Amino acid sequence: MKSTAEIRQMFLDFFHSKGHEVVASSSLVPHNDPTLLFTNAGMNQFKDVFLGMDKRSYSRATTAQRCVRAGGKHNDLDNVGYTARHHTFFEMLGNFSFGDYFKRDAIHFAWELLTGEGWFNLPKERLLVTVYATDDEAYNIWANEIGIPQEKIIRIGDNKGAPYASDNFWQMGDTGPCGPCSEIFYDHGNHIWGGPPGSPEEDGDRFIEIWNIVFMQFNRLSDGSMEPLPKPSVDTGMGLERISAVLQHVNSNYEIDLFKTLIQNTAKVIGISDLQNKSLRVIADHIRSCAFLIADGVLPSNEGRGYVLRRIIRRAVRHGHMLGAKEVFFYKLVQPLICVMESAASQLTKNQKQVEETLKVEEEQFLKTLERGLLLLDQELIKITDNQLSGDIAFKLYDTYGFPFDLTADVCREKNITVDEAGFNRCMEQQRRRSRESDNFSVDYSTTIQFDGQTEFLGYEQDELMATVVAIFQQ
Ligand code: ATP
Ligand code: MG
Ligand code: MG
Ligand code: MG
Repeated sequence: MKSTAEIRQMFLDFFHSKGHEVVASSSLVPHNDPTLLFTNAGMNQFKDVFLGMDKRSYSRATTAQRCVRAGGKHNDLDNVGYTARHHTFFEMLGNFSFGDYFKRDAIHFAWELLTGEGWFNLPKERLLVTVYATDDEAYNIWANEIGIPQEKIIRIGDNKGAPYASDNFWQMGDTGPCGPCSEIFYDHGNHIWGGPPGSPEEDGDRFIEIWNIVFMQFNRLSDGSMEPLPKPSVDTGMGLERISAVLQHVNSNYEIDLFKTLIQNTAKVIGISDLQNKSLRVIADHIRSCAFLIADGVLPSNEGRGYVLRRIIRRAVRHGHMLGAKEVFFYKLVQPLICVMESAASQLTKNQKQVEETLKVEEEQFLKTLERGLLLLDQELIKITDNQLSGDIAFKLYDTYGFPFDLTADVCREKNITVDEAGFNRCMEQQRRRSRESDNFSVDYSTTIQFDGQTEFLGYEQDELMATVVAIFQQ
């Protein structure tokens, strides 16, 4: 049976043999796109190449790209622990054509890799595909050239064929390159709950999307109209953990070799024996995103990228606490993680010490308030009658005990209780207002500088005044 490391390498070798340049994964912090929270797809590092603003010496590329989907547009944090197929951190295998080949080759390549005897050799009858509702070109390639039976080619979007979903059209932004997708699904068998893409049960884990092939075909203009791109391109993404699950004959990503070993090590570090425990999977998932984010330069903080990282760390620590971890444990998983990531671990290996130290400090800090916060939460949960925790309590947990909102929601979800998010946000807003007001009084103006007649200004003007005062102090 092929290991995850072998599968990653086989993918790159296959596309190398088809004339693709093997390009290294880029950082999780996108260097060329301030609108993007974290790298969440293989194409991110090639955005400017697709836009024609950057030229490369090659027109075909292949990568195994580390991705994080937590926070931002694609947020899979809440799926972790609940589906067999979503992670906060995963590797996306991709092949790219920059104005080189288009639909025909992209589809033939994908099929050859998935079903070819020397390659993944998957049983063809287990595969089904979707195309965008109006994309007859892709439909005909699948039907006539590849020979997929019609009932296994599902048109998605535009309410034609499959009315439940319409996400088979990809776009980079409100304007710019866009085009139809064709996705490949694997049927794990009728012993698992779930329906084919486009059906009401598609959220189950039976039919799992393994590969998305995007045909960048149009340029969307600011008036919403689309013009054909002179040189259409291809962008694809296949989840390494999902294809590994298929090739290793397991339904859940958490049962592949990489995760099995990581989960065993996590259980050992924490000191529990039940390897099926859901919290172990959550922790094994979270150490990957946290360790790689820090290795790529993100530090825990109270805003932006750093706050997403902090939220993931605290969730992991809470799950460790639930398993009865007696001492600081999370940083001890960095070494086992490096071992299972093999060739994808280099950035982490380089920064191992800093990553461990950062995780350790962050966990120690959170442990000071975790237990008391959980106690308060338990007391409140007992009182609940309408299955909803109030925003006030969620805010108190946040403000006094350092519980990110989604951590509280995660605890509550285990007990089928929701949290009043709007109420929480109102408390946050009130606090912001209060702190803006109190900021204005944090310096005693009267004894430092005379601001005669100016103190009646309120709001942002007062902030400007404050900035001037600070600037004077700093001189
Ligand atoms: P899904 O519908 O399952 O959430 P997606 O359509 O959001 O997946 P794409 O944006 O098309 O995913 O990404 C390309 C591929 O990356 C997917 O086909 C899948 O194999 C993989 N992938 C996407 N999200 C995740 C995730 N959170 N964890 C693991 N693999 C993922
Ligand atoms: Mg998704
Ligand atoms: Mg999808
Ligand atoms: Mg998709």
